[in-house]
Amino acid sequence: MIDSHCHLHHARYDADRQSVIQAAHQAGVAQMMVIGCDLADSEKAVQLAESTPNLFASVGVHPHEAAGFPESDLARLAELAQHPKVLAIGEMGLDFYYDHSPRETQKHVFSQQLQLANQLDKPVVIHSRDAEEESLAEIKNCHPVFGGQVHCFTGSLAFAKSLLAMDFYLGFTGIITFKNAHELQEVVKITPLERILIETDSPYLAPIPFRGKRNEPAFLPAIAEKVAELKNESLQTVIQATTENFERLYHIKRN
Ligand SMILES: [Zn+2]
Ligand SMILES: [Zn+2]
Repeated sequence: MIDSHCHLHHARYDADRQSVIQAAHQAGVAQMMVIGCDLADSEKAVQLAESTPNLFASVGVHPHEAAGFPESDLARLAELAQHPKVLAIGEMGLDFYYDHSPRETQKHVFSQQLQLANQLDKPVVIHSRDAEEESLAEIKNCHPVFGGQVHCFTGSLAFAKSLLAMDFYLGFTGIITFKNAHELQEVVKITPLERILIETDSPYLAPIPFRGKRNEPAFLPAIAEKVAELKNESLQTVIQATTENFERLYHIKRN
């Protein structure tokens, strides 16, 4: 399995990062992509990926951090993206649930990164919460030529269908295991297997039965199992498909 989205460089792993990675491998999670949320955080993500086998990185500016991102840092982000272990640009996007940055600033920083990804021939990792129409508008305005993943998908069926029509991949987290996630489980059911990625978004959003704990990539099998149940497929089929999807989207070759 590949954990397509986690934040293993987060301070919450400072005390036991290597054993967390070890536990992931023992649970069958062979590779992980660590995701940057602003410039300094992206630098940390790249450093960790550089020093750790089987880890990749993505560099970007989360909508929460958009307000603190000076235009002049875009060049440094582009430079970081040249590292051979950087597979994508992001996470980027719009979060109108928390509104930690002004919406116009979020849109501006999102569109700058969509353009950057196209200039650098990279796919994108998109975070979108309570901003479906606006996210689609930005994506249509500057279409990611190399595709992308809408991570931690929690949107509507209509949003999922629009994204799938544009050949996006949908990343599903432990939220799909939550008892009240009925609409989201419907989204999993209608999403073709060849468009599904699995992710923990560690340290956030631990799946059932670990809900409330610090999340970690070793919990990814609980998400794969839920996808298998919802798709009425074997676990093995889901693992194989989601692994191939990751490799196809992010252009990596199998070891
Ligand atoms: Zn996110
Ligand atoms: Zn994230």
